[in-house]
Amino acid sequence: MSSGTRRQLETREERKKFCRRLLAWYDIHARDLPWRASHDPYRVWLSEIMLQQTRVAAVIEHHHEFLRRFSTIEKLAAAREASVLAAWSGLGYYRRARMMHAAAKVIVHEHGGKFPTSEPGLRTLPGIGRYTAAAIASIAFGEPVAVVDGNVERVLQRLSGRRLGGEELWTAAENLLDAKRPGDFNQAMMELGAVVCAPRAPACLTCPVVELCTTRGELPATTKPVPQKKREIHYALDCRKRNGRDDEVFLVQRTRDASLMPGMWELPELAAMNGTGKPLFALRHSITVTDYTVRVWRATAPSRVAGKWIRLERLAQVALTGLARKILRKSEVL
Ligand code: SF4
Repeated sequence: MSSGTRRQLETREERKKFCRRLLAWYDIHARDLPWRASHDPYRVWLSEIMLQQTRVAAVIEHHHEFLRRFSTIEKLAAAREASVLAAWSGLGYYRRARMMHAAAKVIVHEHGGKFPTSEPGLRTLPGIGRYTAAAIASIAFGEPVAVVDGNVERVLQRLSGRRLGGEELWTAAENLLDAKRPGDFNQAMMELGAVVCAPRAPACLTCPVVELCTTRGELPATTKPVPQKKREIHYALDCRKRNGRDDEVFLVQRTRDASLMPGMWELPELAAMNGTGKPLFALRHSITVTDYTVRVWRATAPSRVAGKWIRLERLAQVALTGLARKILRKSEVL
């Protein structure tokens, strides 16, 4: 922002105008996402948890299937953990599924199957932090509380022309919140960040609040992006035949105390396979700050590895890591 540019949204009138424009835009342009058809707290909660760290397209694919398996909070609470993890398979960050399962049990056994209806009440449940509690409270129960996620943070910073952090962001969001339509307002802010005020090259020319934005573009970068690490990793695709077809695949289970994806199933890892022919295929996979080149070999699992033969028709019920699912799909085992 140049020294001569006036900051926007500092008057009550400007903030009211902002809400009007944002909500009018949202009423027409909101994406037709399956979870938006309902204000049922179970469905809102499920979508909010799934959307954390997962792309909308992947969530659409899994949301319907999860609800088909666990159509009510009671069914989720009564399910075995392995079934919940299997339904979550492909979404990653499995701690979210475990916490949902734990919270479902608390809601059913301690709250008679009813969600707490306020943000502070929701925050007492396992896995529900400030963001999720505010999202459920505003969307399902109309409580006037603002949310801040990555999209909202970016929009607020550009609107104000300042690098806001921590509590400042929550205060800025609360100052703008439309108290009559808090759920729609929160979703509209997230939608604006997702489809218009994108991380790179925001579409300011089509932005409904461009007149009220201080930056009208990206804020100048102040820090260098963290470089991605590169790693190569090898896996054995070990299948055995029954009746002349590949009928079982050998998988190993990650330990319960593994820091990532505890208890999930994956292919056995191999030491580097340099000079031993050609892999079946290679693919790329990224986890947080590491980019993996994954090479998959048609090979016998190392004898030291403790694993299990899994029948192929059972694979859909097994809690696979995202990478294992990717490999099994690419090799047409799944
Ligand atoms: Fe984002 Fe541009 Fe809209 Fe400002 S005008 S909120 S930078 S899209």
